[in-house]
Amino acid sequence: MSKVIIIGAGGVANVVAKKCAQNDSVFTEVLIATRTVSKADKIVAEIHEHMPNSKTKFSTATVDADNVPELVKLIKEFGPEMVINVALPYQDLTIMDACLETGVHYLDTANYEPKDVAKFEYSWQWAYQDRFKSAGLMALLGCGFDPGATQAFTAYIAKHHIPEIEYLDIIDCNNGNHGKAFATNFNPEINIREITANGRYWENGEWIETQPLEIAQDIYYPNVATRRSYVLYHEELESLVKHFPTIKRARFWMTFGEAYIKHLNVLEGIGMTSIEPIDFRGQKIAPIEFLKAVLPAPESLAAGYTGQTCIGVQAKGIGKDGKEAVHFVYNVKDHAECYREVQAQGVSYTTGVPAMIGAMLMLQGTWMQAGVWNVEQLDPDPFIDAMNKWGLPVDELAGIELVRD
Ligand code: NDP
Repeated sequence: MSKVIIIGAGGVANVVAKKCAQNDSVFTEVLIATRTVSKADKIVAEIHEHMPNSKTKFSTATVDADNVPELVKLIKEFGPEMVINVALPYQDLTIMDACLETGVHYLDTANYEPKDVAKFEYSWQWAYQDRFKSAGLMALLGCGFDPGATQAFTAYIAKHHIPEIEYLDIIDCNNGNHGKAFATNFNPEINIREITANGRYWENGEWIETQPLEIAQDIYYPNVATRRSYVLYHEELESLVKHFPTIKRARFWMTFGEAYIKHLNVLEGIGMTSIEPIDFRGQKIAPIEFLKAVLPAPESLAAGYTGQTCIGVQAKGIGKDGKEAVHFVYNVKDHAECYREVQAQGVSYTTGVPAMIGAMLMLQGTWMQAGVWNVEQLDPDPFIDAMNKWGLPVDELAGIELVRD
């Protein structure tokens, strides 16, 4: 039925490509285009080896996604309906520009971030609203797990349980073990920039800034563990408080182990997480980029990864019956199960599956509409049905408060 280009060939792209291969009645032709084409070739070779019955036709290409004319040429030659951007957030705007120029729909999993400023926000991509709308094209922003599924969970709670959400807590636990002293579960540069930044949450109409990892509490993640969790700023908070104006407080919590924090503190203390380039033997090198080159690639963690992820949304507010209510919607995923299915660890899996689902709902017309959209603006029901079908079962708990004030 549809031709798509996947840009990027890292941990998340591997999962998107393999889920497209499973869903071969929707994704009939897929081009994986990336900077280092051998990584795309490896994904395709694995698909041929592990999924010989898939009818999806795959090909690969080299592209520099920072370069709009190169992207335009590639898109024109292949002629896809849409581009799934799972390269890095730095490439969001160039890929959106190329989609506009070629008349192709767009989806990504992380909002734009300039390379030289550790700052991410939706303003740059929301500014494309009129151009996508008048071109009759759709851009779906942040359709991974968080952002992505967490916004569908919020919209689902608002639609079915708590129309007036007042307190929102997104909780993200990786209770897995990859056996390495220190590694990040997705792109190290993006991950470390996010965690070493100041924390931020929404309260009574304004953003409250905290020191990095300043606010913490022990949270019980159903069927997984009780884990120390820290308030971080996360991009979906920005769109959720905009689209659900009844929210009085919105926070995002993530678990980190003691060893992880100790390594991070040392690396930060000696300047290795800095994005400011330094002179090294006549070359300008940003320490964090060097650090990325030294750390294990996220996709290399997959074999032997044990334990589970648990990501969910707790909402409190006024329920359908006019009384105070609390509701929790979540998914638990096992790392080893992800590896057996698509040779990936759970963090790549939980990001890649929602990206495939978002693309499917666009291509099938269920979600397709012109303009720039965040996930919570669209009907959550078909998305959650598809999560249950494509490997991310969704559970709910009513009346139990997992995150305390
Ligand atoms: P990786 O670093 O594993 O992969 C990124 C890929 O993008 C690599 O193949 C890389 O190429 C390619 N790439 C980078 N720059 C360019 C460029 N200029 N032109 C072409 N290709 C390029 O990252 P992940 O797979 O872990 O993450 C992918 C995306 O998913 C990121 O944006 C990340 O922030 C997002 N994410 C979202 C989550 C969510 O829940 N919403 C959770 C986790 C991640 P090369 O191999 O040559 O370096």
